[in-house]
Amino acid sequence: MTHLATVPDAVPPPFPRRVPTRTTLAVDLGAVAANARRLADAATGALMAVVKADGFGHGAVPIARAALAGGAGSLGVTGLAEALTLREAGLTAPILSWLHPADEDFGPAAQYDVEVAVPSAEHLDRVARTAPGAAIHLQVDVGLARDGAGPRQWGPLFARARLLERAGRIRVVGLMGHLPCADDPLHVSNAHGRRRFAAALQLARSCGLTPAQRHLAATEATLRDPLSHHTLSRCGAGLVGAAGRLRPVANLTAPVVEVRRVRAGTPVGYGHAWTAPRDTTLALLPLGYADGLPRVAGPHAEVLVQGVRRPLAGRVSMDMTVVDAGDLPVVPGTPVTVFGPGDSGEPTIHDWGPWAHTLPHEIVTGLSRRIARVYDAGALR
Ligand SMILES: *Cc1c(COP(=O)(O)O)cnc(C)c1O
Repeated sequence: MTHLATVPDAVPPPFPRRVPTRTTLAVDLGAVAANARRLADAATGALMAVVKADGFGHGAVPIARAALAGGAGSLGVTGLAEALTLREAGLTAPILSWLHPADEDFGPAAQYDVEVAVPSAEHLDRVARTAPGAAIHLQVDVGLARDGAGPRQWGPLFARARLLERAGRIRVVGLMGHLPCADDPLHVSNAHGRRRFAAALQLARSCGLTPAQRHLAATEATLRDPLSHHTLSRCGAGLVGAAGRLRPVANLTAPVVEVRRVRAGTPVGYGHAWTAPRDTTLALLPLGYADGLPRVAGPHAEVLVQGVRRPLAGRVSMDMTVVDAGDLPVVPGTPVTVFGPGDSGEPTIHDWGPWAHTLPHEIVTGLSRRIARVYDAGALR
């Protein structure tokens, strides 16, 4: 205190509101729109753009806008918080939200015109009580055994929904299911799920319900299984190119922050898990597992440096990663591509997924907030 008091003029300059990070996820919104167009063309019915988990890590609002420009007619999210983010940004398209606690206050759903999925009688009563007049989609389990009402609950759930609908408390506008193994078109569960969904629809109708939106297919089923389409497809991963052989839409780049030349035999990084096999140049990247670069991918992963694929050297650390740049003339500031659409030989999220023993979905949704998102809307204009 006394120290500060003796420095009367040490007033700091005005605090900068934001210092940009240079580790960047650059999202090509034209590619998102093109992916949406491909999915909309493949779908028998309408396309719902699923932008949950912040648009699979790419930014929910820009991805939603691009998908709507590409032909999506509505948006899907998991939870009212995500739905309200879209409304707050000024998006007026229909929104469906699924996955809510049974004691949710659904008031905001009615207030902001968000449709909600209803997987149980408890949810149904709660919606009727907290969001009178809300539009709901009855959610049935057709084989995932994860979310949605199991077949034994369908009868009572549908009957109660019809009762509340007649009383003007809710409106049943949809029936939804979700397939467990749509990425394997030959899997027996696909036909089984389709049959279960048809049975649910028949039962709903026999209860007097008339759900106008009937939806079972996500990205894979939209591209591979027309029998699953009904009136609507809910697609998320395909929009960002994480599934369905659609184009990955983002480039993850970082600048080299330090360069060192080391001799053959130099051990590198935590645990000395890697040793330079020959004299080489090491380039330090300012991103690590806290940014979503999977630590487990280290031994297999590569990045693109000056047009050349180069392996990582040693373990991925929390905030940084070392690249074995060989004899490339890298300097601090040299941009390195971690992944992209693959056009220039850079790895894609379809490389990173297997390197990390996971899906491309987990690679993109795991990217941290401290990576700057930038958007190229050029092709949309
Ligand atoms: C995530 C999700 C989708 C989107 O699936 P993709 O394979 O990413 O297209 C669709 N429906 C439900 C219920 C989901 O949870």
